[in-house]
Amino acid sequence: MAGDKSSVKPKSSISMTLDKRTVERLRLLRKIDQKVYGEIVEKLNLAMLPVITEAEKDIKINKNAWRDAKVCPKCESGVLMKRFRRSDKKPFLSCHRFPECRHTEDI
Ligand SMILES: [Zn+2]
Repeated sequence: MAGDKSSVKPKSSISMTLDKRTVERLRLLRKIDQKVYGEIVEKLNLAMLPVITEAEKDIKINKNAWRDAKVCPKCESGVLMKRFRRSDKKPFLSCHRFPECRHTEDI
């Protein structure tokens, strides 16, 4: 249903959609007690780690690959990953959603 979700946009270009009531409660907590809010965000991060690790396995991405990861400019949902050309072993960037997205960049 439209209007039920609120978007939280961090500094990076990846946005996260949370339940509107959750966002309102988090905002209120941030206003009331910065320390408690900080602890909750820390716990949320820890709780998300196993989920993210599972997702990385599903899409076959090594956790170290995220260090310099950029969002794919073509499909805007994939992440550019360093790969090596089979012919000459030279590195290049390609969208992790290959073969659905065939965007590549030279390094
Ligand atoms: Zn892409």
